[in-house]
Amino acid sequence: MNSRLIDRFGVQDTPFFYYDLKMLHGNVDALKAASKPHGFHVHYAIKSNANSRILELISETGLGADCVSGNEIKASIESGFSPDKVVFAGVGKSDKEINYALEKNIFCFNCESIQEIEVINELAEKQDKVAKIAIRLNPNVNAYTHAYITTGLEENKFGINASQLEEVLEVISNSENIKLIGLHFHIGSQITDLTPFKNLCNKINELQQWFLTRNVTIEHINVGGGLGIDYETPDLHPIPPYEEYFQIFKDFLELQSGQEVHFELGRSITGNMGTLVSRVLYVKKGINTNFLILDAGMTELIRPALYQSYHKIENLSKRHLVDISRAKYDVVGPICESSDCFGKDVTLEETERGDLIGIRSAGAYGEVMASSYNLREKAKVLF
Ligand SMILES: *Cc1c(COP(=O)(O)O)cnc(C)c1O
Repeated sequence: MNSRLIDRFGVQDTPFFYYDLKMLHGNVDALKAASKPHGFHVHYAIKSNANSRILELISETGLGADCVSGNEIKASIESGFSPDKVVFAGVGKSDKEINYALEKNIFCFNCESIQEIEVINELAEKQDKVAKIAIRLNPNVNAYTHAYITTGLEENKFGINASQLEEVLEVISNSENIKLIGLHFHIGSQITDLTPFKNLCNKINELQQWFLTRNVTIEHINVGGGLGIDYETPDLHPIPPYEEYFQIFKDFLELQSGQEVHFELGRSITGNMGTLVSRVLYVKKGINTNFLILDAGMTELIRPALYQSYHKIENLSKRHLVDISRAKYDVVGPICESSDCFGKDVTLEETERGDLIGIRSAGAYGEVMASSYNLREKAKVLF
């Protein structure tokens, strides 16, 4: 956010999210430029930011949608995503959600248990349809990210373990209203060292051999999402290393002829375009600490409280002043929880009541995870 924008927003009620649509455009352009030459198919993970304006902008670029609930499928289709580019994952798909997805003829159900495949078969039969499914396989690859966003280990609740594959194929072959079209994987989120993606490719190659020896045709491999962003220095790397990321799959995945590769990216697309803008309510001196008490808290952005995650914090009102002294602050919200803290020992320009504070990289898993705890109002969004 530059100072002109601050002038524009300074009078606004705080807190609010500011989404930089130009930056989002630039991001999706870079994503397409990096994925197109390989013929890769990318689905935008709706759960990272489901704001209708954002969905409309992304759907116009032709990306598909990756959904984890019936309402996400509904929102994506209403925002212009084509149902034949919608994939649906999640360990707990309800009958209502499955029925809705069947009615809309989505591209693929990413199935996470044997019982789920049986239920989809039953419901598809009632609608006289054949549901296209991918098996979400648990590759047992460590993403080396926060435990709460690691999803590809055997002890995680996601996916089906490879040891159950024999049984899965048997269930599928007895299910007349199911067509197996793909294999699906997703190892975790905010992955910045790309090595886990190489390990994933190697694991997928092994698993493909298993299917080959049984003469089972797999039309597509869906490698999920999880590409991380630079939370520390968002201005240096506003766009994630898409080329390097896609090149790994090009180099390491051994594809069968005609096989498509699908991706499900969320955070990497929407993360850095968002800033949570908040006003300093009070500067409170503690014994060893100075607290900046903001009018935004974990109800607007829960990531620091939930995953101990780092967001760059800036004093938007004082940032441009050159000769100002600096101080260290614990930057906290107004919510009645000690975990309601955006950052400890944050060095900022000497800050006063009324200053605007920017919490950067809040475009993904911010607004969508907001709550009304303490009967808080939903923060506005400005573009
Ligand atoms: C959350 C999720 C994604 C997107 O993850 P990002 O880290 O935001 O890219 C993709 N696929 C599945 C199945 C998910 O649950």
